[in-house]
Amino acid sequence: MTFASLGLIEPLLRALETLGYQTPTPVQAQAIPAVLAGRDLMAAAQTGTGKTAGFALPLLQLLTMEGPKVAANSARALILCPTRELAEQVHTSVAEYAQHLPLTTYAVYGGVSINPQMMKLRKGVDILVATPGRLIDLFRQNALKLNQLQTLVLDEADRMLDLGFSEELANIYRMLPKKRQTLLFSATFSDDIRLLAGQMLNDPLSIEVSPRNVAANTVKQWVVPVDKKRKPELFVHLMRKGRWKQVLVFAKTRNGVDALVDKLQGLGINADGIHGDKPQATRQRALDRFKASEVQILVATDVAARGLDIEDLPLVVNFDLPIVAEDYIHRIGRTGRAGNTGEAISLVCADEVNMLSAIEMLTRQTLTRKMEPDFEPEHRVPDTDASGQVVKKPKKPKKPKTSGGGGKRNLGKWVDSGDAAPTEPSIKPVRKVPVFNTGPRKKK
Ligand code: AMP
Repeated sequence: MTFASLGLIEPLLRALETLGYQTPTPVQAQAIPAVLAGRDLMAAAQTGTGKTAGFALPLLQLLTMEGPKVAANSARALILCPTRELAEQVHTSVAEYAQHLPLTTYAVYGGVSINPQMMKLRKGVDILVATPGRLIDLFRQNALKLNQLQTLVLDEADRMLDLGFSEELANIYRMLPKKRQTLLFSATFSDDIRLLAGQMLNDPLSIEVSPRNVAANTVKQWVVPVDKKRKPELFVHLMRKGRWKQVLVFAKTRNGVDALVDKLQGLGINADGIHGDKPQATRQRALDRFKASEVQILVATDVAARGLDIEDLPLVVNFDLPIVAEDYIHRIGRTGRAGNTGEAISLVCADEVNMLSAIEMLTRQTLTRKMEPDFEPEHRVPDTDASGQVVKKPKKPKKPKTSGGGGKRNLGKWVDSGDAAPTEPSIKPVRKVPVFNTGPRKKK
């Protein structure tokens, strides 16, 4: 199959040729014809599948072929993203695909001054990429009208809900014209996402390019059990032993990121960190330097790392397991992209056994454990498997017990306790999706 056979116009084909895209990925092969035909879409596509081009290419084509010129302070298509980094990245891709088209594109997000964004919107833009909060601010300040909107894309919708954007989404929903095309992309499909899709989409076509909630199989994954206090030492040991060149490392908290970066820099290792406390410009600089291989180790929290697309990233290390099991899929999706193979190593201590179990259940696999000589943990990590079973180490009974314990546990999402509580404030608890009471959408 070729991009031309999907019915894409010549200026798009030329851009794809420049980018070296030869064959459509499965999500592109399914999404492109459906979007061109005007359908709403509900796509279960994890990161690295080529989903951005899957929605952006047909969207650009429709905007080129149909509809009036963009009016002042208006947008014809809106792509909503959960984070600034993803918004920037999606915008870069859209601009690349649109390089031979007479369309304007722009990205708006919080954490930077709103005035230049308001100025830029004066003439209107064909495609606006936005994070929800800043979009609402611009709308309320009359810098943006949405009555000309033809298409709405919700990118990484699961993540938007995880980050607590459900109220913002409900507000945005009320600002939108009823007649529009809506495309929803999500790595995972929780009940809340299905509810949101039921409210936002009109007779959507469902696309699922990999089994639901199963991590990319191009990524070789394993776990190294270790005592919590020895994780930094193990990381440095594995790094030297494996001669790691470019590694993206995930830590659970902002403090965890800073502590690891300090430790590595203290050892003369070229490391930098990104998390929500750092200004956007600093985060972008660290990311750019990592991409340019000027920084060897980039340590990040889940929020800050969202949407990072680094070509051929060979290795992701989970210094801590994520607080939400779905984040494991997002994290390892940073490697093994677009058909390349990658590795994901998780350093797991006994405290994290419930998280490990939930990840194995979600990804429907038992992760291979590799004990590292001299780092065998004193606090054993209990056995786990994809059924969600945590096999507690049998204890020698000191006195007869009156109540039972252990056994089979049903672990889906968990709430971590004690020091594992998230300190990344942008991770808000998942809120319920508000019920939109604007009535059913009119048929197109
Ligand atoms: P995404 O899942 O949209 O984040 O895309 C993951 C990566 O795959 C990006 O670096 C894209 O540039 C790349 N990509 C997307 N589609 C193709 C394709 N058809 N051929 C080669 N690379 C692609």
